[in-house]
Amino acid sequence: MPGVSIAMYQPKWYEALPTLDMFLINDEHGNWIKPGNFQDSPVEEYAGVLSHEYHKRYDDIWKWLETNKLFKNTDIALCCWCPHASAASKQIAQHGTYICHSAVVEQFLMEHFDVEVVRDAERSNMIKI
Ligand SMILES: [Zn+2]
Repeated sequence: MPGVSIAMYQPKWYEALPTLDMFLINDEHGNWIKPGNFQDSPVEEYAGVLSHEYHKRYDDIWKWLETNKLFKNTDIALCCWCPHASAASKQIAQHGTYICHSAVVEQFLMEHFDVEVVRDAERSNMIKI
């Protein structure tokens, strides 16, 4: 299965993958949208703000799905390494689970494009939104 990166940075220990810019976590000002930016209800606020950002890229996402025939039983792996990052480790230590942008990407693809998204083992206990 071909893979693409949806990570801001790729680890040196993994083969370099093409980056899919439309699922990165930066806003138009270059600010990173991260769970730690939100205090009151971090999961809901984080998912809402990042999803809003993905809405702005809706046409690009649709074109990418169509070009790669991802509506038609073609698989692709969307890769990020957040589960290995210190932010996720802190969330797991504090809350027993974590969330990263792949959960928002998953929800966005399923809700807006009816695309099936399958989690890998490292995301099996990640928060669903
Ligand atoms: Zn991630």
